[in-house]
Amino acid sequence: ALRDRAVFSTSAVTRAGFPPPALPEVSFVGRSNVGKSSLLNRLVGQRGLAHVSKTPGRTRMINFFEIGGSYRLVDLPGYGYARVPEALRAGWEDLVLSYLTARDSLVLNLLLVDCRRDPLENDLRVLELLILSERPVAVVATKADKLKSGEAASRLRLLSQAFGAGGRFPVVACSSVANTKRPRTPGREGVGQIQRLIAE
Ligand code: GDP
Repeated sequence: ALRDRAVFSTSAVTRAGFPPPALPEVSFVGRSNVGKSSLLNRLVGQRGLAHVSKTPGRTRMINFFEIGGSYRLVDLPGYGYARVPEALRAGWEDLVLSYLTARDSLVLNLLLVDCRRDPLENDLRVLELLILSERPVAVVATKADKLKSGEAASRLRLLSQAFGAGGRFPVVACSSVANTKRPRTPGREGVGQIQRLIAE
């Protein structure tokens, strides 16, 4: 279960650094700063596990976390951050591409998009790639707590149309910070929904 002990396993900057594909893996894919680390920490209930950065574009490695010794959560480097030098960006893409398209142990991709933004070209390109890779995808609309309650349903509809691949991929509004003091905060249920998707 997700609440089992989660430990950092390894970071990879090249394919050779990937751990043996011995455990099923769930990937976290998305733009820099979209909330990958926050969601990962929230899902396992360990605040400091994945580094949460206020400076986008910092993580250039693939980080592997092992949960209860039975599967892995894999934090991929964020894309689409303009201030990263071009050369570095190219190397980055190769690494992520080779992980997403050729990793035998990858069983589910979580594509994270910011729920307040209209679909971005980058995100749609990555979605195409994920569709081509023929593995299950769930789309997570992050930072849903920043929406007004009345906005949430229409945002989710728009994002489902853009990212749901015609109803094949679930699109879940999620907040990694929502607290119980505002029980109507959009995205409050999202973490539990994603936990269930991973558990399947
Ligand atoms: P990453 O670069 O995709 O790993 O993104 P981080 O998890 O480091 O988050 C980037 C910033 O967004 C941080 O300042 C987080 O505190 C903030 N953040 C992440 N998730 C949420 C969320 O669900 N709600 C709100 N309000 N802020 C969030």
